[in-house]
Amino acid sequence: MVGELSRRFTDDYWRELDQKRGYPEEFVQAMTKAGYLSALIPEEYGGLGLGITEGSIILEVVNRSGGNAGACHGQMYTMGTLLRHGSEEQKRKYLPKIASGELRLQAFGVTEPDSGTDTTSLRTTAVRRGDHYVVSGQKIFISRVQHSDLMLLLARTTPRDKVARKSDGLSVFLVDLRDAPADRFEARPIETMMNHGTNQVFFDGLEVPASQLIGEEGKGFRYILDGMNAERILIAAECVGDGDWFIDRATTYAKERVVFDRPIGQNQGVAFPIARAHVNIRAADLMRQRAAELFDAGQPCGAEANMAKMLAADASWEAANVAVQTHGGYGFAAEFDIERKFRETRLYQVAPISTNLILSYIAQHVLGLPRSF
Ligand SMILES: Cc1cc2nc3c(=O)[nH]c(=O)nc-3n(C[C@H](O)[C@H](O)[C@H](O)COP(=O)(O)OP(=O)(O)OC[C@H]3O[C@@H](n4cnc5c(N)ncnc54)[C@H](O)[C@@H]3O)c2cc1C
Repeated sequence: MVGELSRRFTDDYWRELDQKRGYPEEFVQAMTKAGYLSALIPEEYGGLGLGITEGSIILEVVNRSGGNAGACHGQMYTMGTLLRHGSEEQKRKYLPKIASGELRLQAFGVTEPDSGTDTTSLRTTAVRRGDHYVVSGQKIFISRVQHSDLMLLLARTTPRDKVARKSDGLSVFLVDLRDAPADRFEARPIETMMNHGTNQVFFDGLEVPASQLIGEEGKGFRYILDGMNAERILIAAECVGDGDWFIDRATTYAKERVVFDRPIGQNQGVAFPIARAHVNIRAADLMRQRAAELFDAGQPCGAEANMAKMLAADASWEAANVAVQTHGGYGFAAEFDIERKFRETRLYQVAPISTNLILSYIAQHVLGLPRSF
């Protein structure tokens, strides 16, 4: 069913959007209406109540069909923090509307210009004043802000020099962007190599009602970390979808394109890189399935989720390179769509977590090597 929906949005649709840097509004609406973006919201809050296995298949199929789930995956997993750590009142107020699409929770505000990957050094502050918090600071690369009613925001509520551990004193807020006055909140689009709709965001004394604090003040970093495994598994699935799409295109082209009186795929120099990329995608897919299975069983899956994300991002990037190479000059021509997907899948080496940080997690937490930072 997801495949059928995705195929209605053809290569032309995605290519035109890419060229004008537009948001796939119709596609996102169709996904929302079909209920797919509410996959992980429990049924009692109006969602489909599915597991990460099924959620990840939904995103995989979108990418496998030539689309880009990055335009809407935030709606699927950003709500996890609210689901796990929000009060019953917050969940009843927001989750059914997020499930129906009446409210869009697509924006996730963590990264900052000065701290980057070192999240606990972020400088955006939220200072309590009576029944609200006053938020000031800057965020960068915050995606889908213009297409979201709500933003999950991580800000410092206790100065870093007043907490025992630097991961303490950070809090999570569900910010209603519809209420944000223009002189207190601004989102400036950042042009990137692919069509991603990301922004630099400025908070200048934005008042956020205290009722929008998620969970306990000061525990926000842990709440965000809790959502990371789900995010890694879902992104891994998107990469697997991309990888299979690239292999499909490369294989088809290698069978059809005749040079020196034979299909180019008859040359092992062309066939083997495609075969190798396919092997690596299948291996990454197994790790992604294993991570999802552990996640759905409530078992620890940090190692598997991280490994799945890294293997899948590497495999999709390898497949992207192979697809360009197989297409020769046509790999660079927009109408073949390879170059568009090539640019899109490159992101996953860096965001939402870079490969080095995954290796660092494995070195320290799985292999017990000394902590490096
Ligand atoms: C298109 C796009 C969309 C994004 N969307 C969002 C979003 O919606 N919300 C959000 O909060 N963020 C978002 N991000 C931000 C993304 O998560 C960060 O770019 C990413 O986490 C890396 O942070 P940075 O860019 O500051 O790189 P830096 O932290 O400056 O790192 C630069 C490089 O150095 C490496 N590095 C840094 N420290 C170490 C170390 N100790 N050891 C080894 N290597 C290291 C990194 O791996 C990286 O390759 C997005 C980014 C992009 C490009």
